[in-house]
Amino acid sequence: MSFLLSPRLLDPEAREPGLIVDVRDQRRTLLFDLGELDRLPPRVLLRVSHAFVTHNHMDHFAGFDHLLAVALGRMARLVLWGGPGFVDQVEHKLRAYTWNVVQRYPLPLRIEVHEARPDGMGRRACFDSRASFARAEEATFPLDGDLLHDEAAFRVRGRFVDHEMPVLAFALEEKACLRVAPDRLAAMGLTTGPWLGTLKRALLTGAPADTPIDLRWRDRHGEHAMTRSVAELRHLVLDAVAGRRIGYVTDLRHSEANLEQLAGLLTDVDWLYIESVFLDADRAHALRKNHLTARQAGEIARRLGARALQPFHFSPRYRGREAELMAEAHAAWGGPPCKPPAGAASAATLAGAAPADRPPASAR
Ligand SMILES: [Zn+2]
Ligand SMILES: [Zn+2]
Repeated sequence: MSFLLSPRLLDPEAREPGLIVDVRDQRRTLLFDLGELDRLPPRVLLRVSHAFVTHNHMDHFAGFDHLLAVALGRMARLVLWGGPGFVDQVEHKLRAYTWNVVQRYPLPLRIEVHEARPDGMGRRACFDSRASFARAEEATFPLDGDLLHDEAAFRVRGRFVDHEMPVLAFALEEKACLRVAPDRLAAMGLTTGPWLGTLKRALLTGAPADTPIDLRWRDRHGEHAMTRSVAELRHLVLDAVAGRRIGYVTDLRHSEANLEQLAGLLTDVDWLYIESVFLDADRAHALRKNHLTARQAGEIARRLGARALQPFHFSPRYRGREAELMAEAHAAWGGPPCKPPAGAASAATLAGAAPADRPPASAR
């Protein structure tokens, strides 16, 4: 069983913040934080559809300029989410440049910016290259609890933690994955194609039974096309497997209020990416800096029941001692031992069994 979302740290050595999540079968990427994005090749950045920013300290947002430079003329739409003041801060970035030729680019870019506020209200605005990125379509709206973004295959939730300023902690949740029975497909003389994704989306969103699905596929006899209803195709789906939940938590002080916020968002999380900035020997310094120690991060992972743990955002003062930070976090978590971060692809490969080998998470 392969899952929809494939996460990895922006910085394989785990010093810089940032998470990249590839959305399988959709040629799309999600970003969490916009830090040192020049680490990523343009072909990856051009697949970014949504970016979720925890807060606007420079190490989490300075990469916006690089993303914008790559996107101009080559990307049609970018959706951003951030915390209080985020719409203004994106506008300030855009206003810092002169846009006298961008209107002539054949592919216009529309940036849709959303901000969440701790009072439960949201605000949005659009910035379109055809209008020199002037602010437009501004609106305020009530947030739907902690739900920020919701689409057929996954959703993103966010709750505020305290870092001497409000910071968003995120949960990225895959919805159920539908498995198709190959023998039933063959019995109908069909082969896989993009239509299967359309069928799965129709089933996951509860589309009416008579919804038509256009089937197009190719085999050795050439191209084929037909239309069948959802009801006629429903039996191709074998079963549904619960999706995975990924937590991205960074830049917060150790406090009971923060732990409660995380418990509400991330209890039983499958993959937890959590900052582990300082060694616990420097706990007083960590508190002054509004960051966690590795041991505190591991204790939070244990309390949440995280199934895999990836510490990151290591302070430069521990350069060359990253293995100590990893070991301290993992000892406090109590999960399986991990490898050093360099070259690691994902939390799943670092800690515990590969996600495909673990039983599906129970219903949530
Ligand atoms: Zn930071
Ligand atoms: Zn910060």
